[in-house]
Amino acid sequence: MTPAPLPSPAPKRSAAARLRDVIVIGGGPSGTALAAELAAQDLDVLQLSPQPRAPFAPTYGAWWDELPEGVRGAAGQVWSDVRVYTGAAPTPLLRPYVRLDNAALLAQLLARADWSWQAGTVRGAERRADGTWTAHGTGGETWPARLLVDASGHGALIAPARFPGGPALQTASGLIGRFARPPIAPGSMVWMDYRTPAPELRGGEATFLYAMHLGEDRYFVEETSLIARPGLTEGRLRARLLARLEAQGTPPLTVEEQEWVAFPMNAAAPVPGPVLAFGAAAGGVHPISGFQLVGALRAAPGVARAVAGALAGGRSAGGEDAAGAGWAALWPPGSRAAREVHLLGVEALLTLPAHELPEFFRVFFELPREHWTAFLDPRTDARTLARTMLRMFAHAPNGVRVPLVRAALATPRSSGRALLGAAR
Ligand SMILES: Cc1cc2nc3c(=O)[nH]c(=O)nc-3n(C[C@H](O)[C@H](O)[C@H](O)COP(=O)(O)OP(=O)(O)OC[C@H]3O[C@@H](n4cnc5c(N)ncnc54)[C@H](O)[C@@H]3O)c2cc1C
Repeated sequence: MTPAPLPSPAPKRSAAARLRDVIVIGGGPSGTALAAELAAQDLDVLQLSPQPRAPFAPTYGAWWDELPEGVRGAAGQVWSDVRVYTGAAPTPLLRPYVRLDNAALLAQLLARADWSWQAGTVRGAERRADGTWTAHGTGGETWPARLLVDASGHGALIAPARFPGGPALQTASGLIGRFARPPIAPGSMVWMDYRTPAPELRGGEATFLYAMHLGEDRYFVEETSLIARPGLTEGRLRARLLARLEAQGTPPLTVEEQEWVAFPMNAAAPVPGPVLAFGAAAGGVHPISGFQLVGALRAAPGVARAVAGALAGGRSAGGEDAAGAGWAALWPPGSRAAREVHLLGVEALLTLPAHELPEFFRVFFELPREHWTAFLDPRTDARTLARTMLRMFAHAPNGVRVPLVRAALATPRSSGRALLGAAR
């Protein structure tokens, strides 16, 4: 890895900065989950974030059955009426979905162990001769540690991600508001509504409504572009959302909060370096769904155990062995192969004409539940993923099949091998 450049101001060494076992850069859910698990391994951990400790801002959703036991208390609201619309009638998903209570999630992570948290923005890091690291803050601070973890989110401060063909973005514009008439069925959660009630939604890009009934007359509604290169703009999505709500006869009465979502979906499996990355910074976003949170919560204990074991038995003061052990736990060879198959799915989605996307998801959600569930699970192996793709292919109309074939032909060798293996 080439350490990030260190522009002025010149770093000054702080007398108070002791050598930590691990510095985690980033105060998002991934960094906090990993810091908690590292501290639970009795490591001396410092977490750095520009903001003071506070609940995470985004509206996080997840499948209830994927939430780890330790954070189930953070399920703010659970829906059993979960729907997808790829045509006029809803497809019930029969899989409960959760909106996380971010304050409860933070509280549950903080209850796991004790570690230090400091407000500070890291601008770069350098390796010292003994193998330890110094992270440098924008205010001239220095923070030494045996191991650095980059959990700084989608921008990945120190270990930049690779996006084959350029970043393909998920974008969404949402709001929480009060409604005179319900914009979705009361009591329900709509995972994907591809219907196009307004002329503005027909033609051009395909976007869908993702929505939750929060209780009484409060709803969260978000117009979402699943994946596009380049991504859609906030203005365009906001206009589409309002046009949809207006055409349904359900404009918001009042708006309490607004949300803008934009992040890359198609990170390749990262190349392990001497700095460990975690969460979105480590390519953790699922390339088909855009989910990341639960994957990080589930991966954190195993990565922390691997890091702690390597730091305990390490050959040097530095944490090079620990970074390697962490990378191996986070990205075993099976996950790397699976990522290639998912990236093939990304190319297929990017190639599909907009009007075929609802049809693609109709076929997808008509698969037996265990198949589509596995396809959306970051732990599923390449062969199982490839089998699901072949099953989709068998049931898809030609308009969907042709782009799938094109994507498969343009695919890297190992995902092609996975497809062939699954076909046998
Ligand atoms: C609005 C939105 C909604 C989303 N909804 C979902 C969802 O419902 N379900 C799901 O699974 N995923 C969702 N995602 C995707 C993904 O899970 C989130 O992006 C998630 O926040 C990633 O977690 P993270 O901790 O890796 O990164 P982040 O949450 O981005 O946290 C990164 C942290 O690093 C800090 N940081 C950045 N630079 C520095 C620096 N130089 N020095 C120190 N600290 C730094 C930031 O301030 C922040 O605290 C959503 C993403 C967005 C943007």
